Amino acid sequence: MICSICGQEICGSYYFDYWKNNFCASHYENGEVATCSSCSAMIHKSTVLSLSDGRCLCQSCQAQVISTDEQVAKIKKIVVRKLVDEGVRYKDKYLDSVPVKIVTVNELARLRNTPPNLNNKGITITKGISSPIGSLIGFSPIMSHKVYILNNLIKIEFAGTLAHELMHVWQNENQIKLPPPSCEGLCNLGSWLIYTTISASKASFFVKCLMESPDPIYGDGFRHVFQIYEKTGWDGVLDKARKGVL
Ligand SMILES: [Zn+2]
Ligand SMILES: [Zn+2]
Ligand SMILES: [Zn+2]
Repeated sequence: MICSICGQEICGSYYFDYWKNNFCASHYENGEVATCSSCSAMIHKSTVLSLSDGRCLCQSCQAQVISTDEQVAKIKKIVVRKLVDEGVRYKDKYLDSVPVKIVTVNELARLRNTPPNLNNKGITITKGISSPIGSLIGFSPIMSHKVYILNNLIKIEFAGTLAHELMHVWQNENQIKLPPPSCEGLCNLGSWLIYTTISASKASFFVKCLMESPDPIYGDGFRHVFQIYEKTGWDGVLDKARKGVL
């Protein structure tokens, strides 16, 4: 068995990562190993890109990072169409009026009003303008949405995060108020759709993270929504959400 770090035959104990890279235990014990913040590959410290916010990326993830407006526009188009195809309807059909902006972890923390946390990869801000007369005669308020996504995400992770946020846009637009596990679980079903339908070499890792997340809101919430999805499909899930009983 060849060590993925030193390239030598492994003799003695070894470790391996999610991607089945095996490496000599000594590298780990000597502090030579870093874990990629995106795909969790374990690589030699000298080959990672260290980001100022504490994350580090393996070489393969470095090559897949989304950073330009053109890349964002392209991914947004794919993600919106996948959601629309499953019956997620927006007033602005393809969300052309919704900007998607890449931000740093500190900008994201400021927008969320929480301490910086690298597990938070996005936020949707919806502003509603309702006039007293409008609500009297049953007009729904006019809403505008802005989506912010953490910088240095790789393509599949960016797309999954965007799908999550666009499911918040849908819930906000339809004034759907669900308990946090159902709300976030539904958003994660959007991510799951992306991870399982866009072909990407690292998608399986993100599916596993969703499926196995121990978080009571994001993980349990997703598993709750997912078992309804398995019985009723997107139609059943969206219907329950609209009725506030998801
Ligand atoms: Zn080795
Ligand atoms: Zn990686
Ligand atoms: Zn969310």
